[in-house]
Amino acid sequence: MRIVIDLGHGGPDRGNVHNGIEEADLVESVGFNLVAHLTLAGHEVTVTRDQTRDPTPGERDRVAREFDAAFVLSIHADAQPHGGTDWRGSTSFYWRSNHRTGLVASDIAETMPRQLKKSAMGRVHGLAADDTSYPRAVNVVAPFTPPTVLVELGYLTNARDAEYLGTALAADRIVAALFAGCTRAAELYGG
Ligand SMILES: [Zn+2]
Repeated sequence: MRIVIDLGHGGPDRGNVHNGIEEADLVESVGFNLVAHLTLAGHEVTVTRDQTRDPTPGERDRVAREFDAAFVLSIHADAQPHGGTDWRGSTSFYWRSNHRTGLVASDIAETMPRQLKKSAMGRVHGLAADDTSYPRAVNVVAPFTPPTVLVELGYLTNARDAEYLGTALAADRIVAALFAGCTRAAELYGG
């Protein structure tokens, strides 16, 4: 299957920076590792940016359309607003009107390492265009033409999440969860 991995932020935009972790670096580390695994598994994969640029949402969608992607996985990491530090765990977002992206998001949430889970089922949220609770997630997912799932890996503002996200073990387990989601997408979107 043709898959686009959307690496959040990039270049001068470092994304959320807390507890010694820069979001742009984290999503590159996880994303490029995921691309290697998906390519080995026979998928055709590309990314929306290199390490030097922060493309606009429209430019990211153009990459996906020109690549003729059947599925887009966007990778980001969260920060709690207003100086809060207690929120933790990963969230998988999908477009509520697209049932199949919901199945992919659920698979990712359930497969995530337990340190990043809020419950046994993980945390999954279906987005709508007028979703005012998660405007940033809507801004990431809405511009994409192909079916898209957004994964926020965890909260960099939470010391426990940040410490875990900084380990190689976490990187391997997160990549495995994202790989499981992409494999599920390949089944749903026709190989
Ligand atoms: Zn982000």
